Amino acid sequence: MINKIEHIGIAVKDIKTSNELFEKIFGKPHYKIEEVENEGVKTSFFKVGINKIELLEATNEDSPIAKFIKTKGEGIHHIAFEVDDIEAEISRLKKEEFIVLNEKPKIGADNKLIVFLHPKSTNGVLIELCQERTNKE
Ligand code: ZN
Repeated sequence: MINKIEHIGIAVKDIKTSNELFEKIFGKPHYKIEEVENEGVKTSFFKVGINKIELLEATNEDSPIAKFIKTKGEGIHHIAFEVDDIEAEISRLKKEEFIVLNEKPKIGADNKLIVFLHPKSTNGVLIELCQERTNKE
């Protein structure tokens, strides 16, 4: 089951500059910075009420974020939805013929298991599903 929007991911060129920018917008600082080495990204997170915003900066040229910025520029990169059982969602959505970018959930930022659905199969929106890692590894 998909519960709610967990966060919205925004691709940025320079996370330091963008942290300052979003601090001004939200009136408060980010609450964490985390590098996800296997994804080639550095992330920072802001809490806005019950919502979260994730900024993503590429840490190398092969990073999906580097490629995204090259073709589309900075901006909204993905919408992440919280799920209870990510494996069940992967097999459900595969049966519905969505293109799942990774067969097995990966370890993402913020202590989550994550999977992405290819935007080709989702009206151009990169969708991330994420599950908290506390109840299931
Ligand atoms: Zn995300």
